[in-house]
Amino acid sequence: MAKRVTKGFASKTEKALQDKHKICPVCGGDITQVKHVVTDSGENTIRFNEKMIKVCKCNQSEIYK
Ligand SMILES: [Zn+2]
Repeated sequence: MAKRVTKGFASKTEKALQDKHKICPVCGGDITQVKHVVTDSGENTIRFNEKMIKVCKCNQSEIYK
């Protein structure tokens, strides 16, 4: 049986990614949106906070250690 290809979904995703594509005015590099997980540890609990952050050449060395 042939697998159905969901072409419509793929192109939709591609377009969404292109819409988000931005250039940093400072370094002139691509700005990428990445999901960054920050761990917040209390006395008995550890919380995970997910943040969407923008990464370009200005701050990528801080994000990707
Ligand atoms: Zn930059």
